[in-house]
Amino acid sequence: MNQSVLVNQFINLKKTYSGLLYFVFILATLFPQTLLAQDDTRLIFKKYYAQAIEAIEQKKYAEAENLFKKIGRLDITFPDDLAYFYGYTQLNLGKYVQAKAAFEKYLTLRTDTGRYAGFANHYLHLADCNIKGHYFETTTCDQCHGKGKSETQCRTCKGKGTEVCNICFGRGVLKTQDNFGEKFETCKKCVGTGYYTCSKCQGKSNELDKCLICDGKGFFSIRKECNLLEHKE
Ligand SMILES: [Zn+2]
Ligand SMILES: [Zn+2]
Ligand SMILES: [Zn+2]
Repeated sequence: MNQSVLVNQFINLKKTYSGLLYFVFILATLFPQTLLAQDDTRLIFKKYYAQAIEAIEQKKYAEAENLFKKIGRLDITFPDDLAYFYGYTQLNLGKYVQAKAAFEKYLTLRTDTGRYAGFANHYLHLADCNIKGHYFETTTCDQCHGKGKSETQCRTCKGKGTEVCNICFGRGVLKTQDNFGEKFETCKKCVGTGYYTCSKCQGKSNELDKCLICDGKGFFSIRKECNLLEHKE
């Protein structure tokens, strides 16, 4: 009896142990390989990307495009700047639609924080000029500093921050009539003050409203006709 319990325990232990070993074996074989594959892809990407930049510097745009095609097939997250360099390559190959899309992507990713934002905007205009002969220049609204909203005097309280009590009409008391004659009661809504904090601005006197200068957009878009000679590199 005691012996068979021991034997069973031994068998169970052996099963658990071999199960664990198997698990470690699976981890050791699969996981490092995945990591290695990712490392390899990253190295390949770095190589291609450096070669593409070099090709752009040497004005070999077709070569750069080929490298970008190879990069595109890699399963990797690209740095934001890549969109800019791809756009610049496409622009120089006369592929303006692709260039425009790439510069727009770069500007969406980096807005005005990207180090190539100024160039990207310029080249985007150049691409637009070649596609349709005009472009739109956007300037930030000075009034709202691009936020699309600006503080204006509260229209409800006219900037006073308080409203005249609509129950007692500013008197603070309410007159009631009963059998014993007239009675005055303190107004509950304004607690006898005749005023209460403005319900619209909560006493701040101004409210955040749609900027009327830019109609809430935060920027102005001005159509500019292209003078291609002016834009030539
Ligand atoms: Zn504005
Ligand atoms: Zn009142
Ligand atoms: Zn107000």
